[in-house]
Order: sequence, then C-alpha cells, then structure tokens
Amino acid sequence: MFNRVENLRFGPVDTMQSPFARWKTMDLKSVSLNEGFWTKKQTVNRRISLYFGFEMLTKAGNFDNLRIAAGSIQAHYRGYVFLDSDIYKWLEAVAWELGKEPDEELSLMADQAISLIAAAQRPNGYINSYVQTREPPEPWMDLDNGHELYCAGHLFQAAVAFQRAMGDSRLLDIACRFADYICSVFGPDKRHGACGHPEIEMALVELYRITGEPRYLVLAEFFIDQRGKNIMKGHRSYGPEYHQDHVPVRQVKEAAGHSVRQLYLASGVTDLYLETGEQALLEAMLCLWKDITETKLYITGGLGSRFDGEAFGDPYELPTDQCYCETCAAIASFMWNWRMLLTTGEGRHADQMERALYNNILASPALDGKHYFYINPLMLREAKYLRFSSDLPSSEVFIPDQRPEWHDCACCPPNVMRIFASFAHYLATRDMKGIQIHHFAPADIRCDLTSGQSIKLNMLTEYPWQGNIRMQIVESGDSSWELSLRIPEWSHNPIISINGEVIREFRLEKGYLVLERKWQAGDVIELELSMEAMFVASNPRIDATRGCSAIQRGPIVYCLEDKDQEIKGCLLDVEIDKDQPLSTRWDGALLDGVMVVEAAGQFIDSESWREHLYQPATSPVLEIPRPTRLVAIPYFAWGNRVIGGMRVWVPNESSQDGSRLNYG
Ligand SMILES: [Zn+2]
Repeated sequence: MFNRVENLRFGPVDTMQSPFARWKTMDLKSVSLNEGFWTKKQTVNRRISLYFGFEMLTKAGNFDNLRIAAGSIQAHYRGYVFLDSDIYKWLEAVAWELGKEPDEELSLMADQAISLIAAAQRPNGYINSYVQTREPPEPWMDLDNGHELYCAGHLFQAAVAFQRAMGDSRLLDIACRFADYICSVFGPDKRHGACGHPEIEMALVELYRITGEPRYLVLAEFFIDQRGKNIMKGHRSYGPEYHQDHVPVRQVKEAAGHSVRQLYLASGVTDLYLETGEQALLEAMLCLWKDITETKLYITGGLGSRFDGEAFGDPYELPTDQCYCETCAAIASFMWNWRMLLTTGEGRHADQMERALYNNILASPALDGKHYFYINPLMLREAKYLRFSSDLPSSEVFIPDQRPEWHDCACCPPNVMRIFASFAHYLATRDMKGIQIHHFAPADIRCDLTSGQSIKLNMLTEYPWQGNIRMQIVESGDSSWELSLRIPEWSHNPIISINGEVIREFRLEKGYLVLERKWQAGDVIELELSMEAMFVASNPRIDATRGCSAIQRGPIVYCLEDKDQEIKGCLLDVEIDKDQPLSTRWDGALLDGVMVVEAAGQFIDSESWREHLYQPATSPVLEIPRPTRLVAIPYFAWGNRVIGGMRVWVPNESSQDGSRLNYG
C-alpha cells in the first residue's frame, strides 16, 4: 500500500506513479486560483450550487432511497435506478471545495450523506439503494441497464476525493469494501460481464492509484476486456453500441452509440494505458480521437448529435437545433482529453478540454447556479416544444422560459459541480524538466519538480476575455528548467517576452511554447495571445451549417439571441456579412459581465416566400434586406434572460455565396 499521507496531495487524477504518463499531475495545493473568471464561477458553485444540490437531492428522494435501503424508513424507492450516483458526484464536488476551505454547514451535509451510505452498505460491502429496495434484492440481475457498477464507480471517485482533499477515509473504507466485494464476484474465473454504462473502469484505476491495490487495476482491465461481445442488447431497440458492446476496445475505429458511455469508457481505457502501456489501447484511443475531432464534434465541444439513444451520429451529421450535446458528454470529453494530454503531452488535447469547458460545460448552469441545461442545442427557433432534458414532464407541453432547476435524470448538474470545484487540478502539470501550463487563470503555482527543484510562480491574466498572460517567477532553484505554455489552436502569432524583451526564437513542441533557462526570482514572462474576434467556417460536408459562419473570440464561441438585436425580427431571417470586420466591447452590466461582439448583417424581408415553403426555382423572388449590426454574446451565457430564438451558425449574406441559402 502507498503511504496515504502522500495521497492527500492529488486531485481527481494522480499520475505521479503512472509509468506511462508523459506528464505528472500536480499536488492539489500546488495551484491556488486567485480572483478572476474561475473564482467567480467557483464561488457560485460553492455557495449556491452545492447547497441547492443538497436541497434537490433531498427533494428528489435520493437520500430517502438510501434510508429505505438502510431500513431506517419505510417507503418506496423513487426515481431512476442510478440515483445514488448523483449523491456521489455531489459529494465529490463538496470534497474538492472543503479541501480548499472549511465550511461547517457543507461538512454537516456531507456527514449526513456519508452516514446514510455507511448505514445502507451491506455487510458484504455491496451498496445500491435501488437494488436493495426492490424485490428480489439480488444484485447484478441486469448488468446492461442496472447501473450498479456505474454507481459504484462514482462512489469510488467521491471516496478518492475525500481522501485526497481532506484525508478523510470514511468513504474510501466504504469504497474499498465494495470494490473488494466486486472483485470477489467478477473476473476471468468468476462471473463475466461489464456494466452497460461505463464509468467504473476509470474509477477502479484511480482506486488502484490511491490504495496501491493491484486487484483494482486488474478488475478495470477485466471490465474493459469484456466489451465488444455484442451481447448487451437489452435497452429498447438500441443496438449493442448503446452499451459500448459492439466492438472490442482495441479494435475501435470510430465513435458510436451513447456519447457519455463512449467517452467514459475512453477515459477508463486511457487510464489503463497510463498504468500498463499497452500500445493497442493507445492506438485505439488515437483512432477514436481522430474520428471525433474530424467528423463528430460541435464547435462548442458538444458531442452526440442524436436524441435517439443520446448518441453519436454519422460522420458530419451535426444538426444545430436537434442536437443532443449532453452536458455530461462534454464533461466526459474534458475528462478523457485530460487523460490523453497526460499520456501524449500534446496540446491538441488541452485545446479540446478548453473548447468543451468554455462553451458546452459552461453553458449548462445558469448564472444563478440553480438551473441547468441537460441538452445544449446550437440553435433555438421559437423556444417551443423543445426538450431541454431527456425527460419530459408528464403533464404538459414543455415551453420553458429558463433552464430547468433539476432533472428526473439529474446526471449533469452534480457533474458540473465536481468539474468546477476541481478546476485548479487541470491548470498545470510537471515532469523532470519543468512545468507545463495548460489553462490560463490567475493563480499561484508552487511545486517541486520531479527532479526535486522547488518552483513558485504567479500567473496574472484576464483570460478568457483578454489574451495577455503574465507570469512572474517567485522562487526558482539553481538549475535551469523549462516553462511550457500552451499556445491554443485558435491563436496565431503569439508574442512572448521575457523581462520586457521580445523573444523571437523559441521552441514550439506539440502545441507548447517551451522556454528553458536558469530562471531568477523576479523574472517576468509575458505571453500575448491575439484575441481578435473571428469568423469560423465549417466543413461543407456538415450540411446543417454549410454557407454559414460562427463567431469565436479566443476560446469563446458566440451566438445571437433575438432579444439583443436592434431589429425585432425572426433569427431565421438573419444573414451575416463575413467580409466586414467584427467589433468587440466589454459590457460589465450584461450577463455578469461579458465581451460582446458585433457584426454587420441584415434581416431579410421576403414577401415572395411568406406563403410558400416551395416554389419553382425560376420564380422571381423579392427580398428586402434591412441592414443592422448583429449583437453576439458568448454562447455559454445564452438563455439567462427569457429563453427565445438563438443561433450559433448564421447564414452568410447571400450575395457572398451567389445563391439563397438553406436556413439552419
Ligand atoms: Zn448528464
């Protein structure tokens, strides 16, 4: 067993002893965020969302389900079979927050939850409130759809968080007893099978990392090896790809099926590679990554084009209005790309983390921290009959005026909470040679390099609104070391200076600018990333966005909301002039403060089309353009006033393409 005191140091992923990790994750206390964009988000998360989460988990019956399982109350189980997992994700978020700063009330809530879990756990270690309260209360009766191992995985991750953030082993003891029980049931000479919803794989690898218990790693590998047998077909009419059982993991060539399941599985597979170095696993993951980023990824980092099966679509099937883009899929992509980054040391994975984080993930919670999108469409026509969740209220047509508070299937809200709470973990890594900065936020970073040298530096920036990043060395050892800074994919011609002197020759390695020298305390490194707002075009094979442009500034993707437009028209009639310059202004009063982008454009009045859907292409068409300045806001902030028309992709002015374009 590792020394547990050692384990106090890490965040959600610990690659310190992973033999195949290119980069090592930082101590939890190595990176402390200073006032800026993310501390604001974290404050709302800590002070509002976590309390609100507890209230919602209470209201939805999650805690009562555990009480019923423990025999302390008599009632019927409520909700989906995986409700325990929402508690575990919430607990994980609470742990990361309490590790930063105590909060008596939050601690009491967490204590209450942990006591319930402990009380519900069977003497043999098993725990799942759904199974324990049904008749018969036998475990593992429906591996395809039962989510028992999925829930176990989330329990393990919460347990790791409590141990690492606070040295609190109560949950870890519960988790290990459960994991040991699972080890006694499943394995090559025991029961075969895997969970229909991957998740436990990455959790078992982390449990291995924190305890040093090799059986957990072996079990993770066993579950990964169980896939691709085409035997999981038990859910509605979906094929085995829904459960990630359509192809053996090492033969994966493309993303298919339920997007969250696909990406959680990929996270587990990558974690396994980090420990075993089996080349076939990495090659499969690289194939999967290529397929996703080249044919199945939304500009917002969203994944999953289809409501049906919450699934990936065909290549280039990326509709903007009927897309799924579940918040959890973007979170899973963020988690997977983090593991790929730790594996390969390639900035393109951090680019994908950033795309998902600043657009899809950030779009889920309302600015008030108490409402959440489950699904994240890139276009809304009239805000009617749209499903914002996988669930529909039974009684009435759902015409929302804001994000729903919670969901019957509430996987997304606590998932957002745990990512926000642990954001500092993803900022930087280290290796023998130096440290690598992957994401930009005001922060103090202090760490010992793996060579033993102590380093302290301070990062100052107004990212993501401004592209200037100033780093000051506070403490450095006697030897030279490398400071690697990610140059984001959207950034061109970055300017770097050291102590005021522009550096013209520098090393660029796999998306990182590498500066090596014998740093002195007081050295100042400034990186200037140009944050000019720009138009983005899409691959013409994406028919939904052909002939359209989107606006991006830095990592932020923009959208139009109808309420911001001077001309009160329908956003279906709007066109944008991509040849005119974009202008940018800061609006501190709008949506908690956002950078607004304006573009030249027009609304088209077309009498000729008013009463027709179709007419001969030779018919004369009378169209009257009404020029205007189109006002765009960050996509993540949409829907925080009254939800109305919105679109990310806007048709280019027709004269620019020589013909009238399809809308949408
Ligand atoms: Zn979700």
